[in-house]
Amino acid sequence: MYGYPEPVARAIEHFMKLPGVGPKTAARLAFHVLEMSEADVKAFAKALIDLKTGLTECAVCCNITEASPCAICRDPRRDRRVICVVQEPRDVIAMERTREYHGLYHVLHGAISPMEGVGPQDIRIRELVTRVGENEIEEVILATNPNVEGEATAMYISRLLKPFQVKLTRIAHGLPVGGDLEYADEVTLAKALEGRRAL
Ligand SMILES: [Zn+2]
Repeated sequence: MYGYPEPVARAIEHFMKLPGVGPKTAARLAFHVLEMSEADVKAFAKALIDLKTGLTECAVCCNITEASPCAICRDPRRDRRVICVVQEPRDVIAMERTREYHGLYHVLHGAISPMEGVGPQDIRIRELVTRVGENEIEEVILATNPNVEGEATAMYISRLLKPFQVKLTRIAHGLPVGGDLEYADEVTLAKALEGRRAL
């Protein structure tokens, strides 16, 4: 394909599937792997396989976890009456870094985006509605990203949860508009959480 030996071409093809990796970088990475020790390459390959096969989705919050329910959902010190809804597992890590949030989470695994063909049924909204319906929840904090998709998703969820007599809040702006939650620093994110407003 690129005039490389077949195993190299195949590795390049796979590296190019990664975000931000073009043909040149992919070739550099493939040749770098070729220079690594066999033990390192095997450990690398195993880490990638374990990443996929060693993780499952938490039956409660849909976050990725080694065991379901996840450590946060199992933690008796967490406030089970509050659910913070985020788009990605990475956002849970960002929120945890603030050390200001002590409730549970719900991970949507995306946001509604008609442009990209992602509808409400493609993310974990149904699971959230069931969860709110079946548990004693006082507040649902909608912490989807402050961009078009995130806002649309928050609005959609708030409409679905309105009948449940639960306090619905949206994290405050002050977060860079159009940005992702995970890139916000701890202080900004903690302030956005503190300044959340009722919907
Ligand atoms: Zn969980």
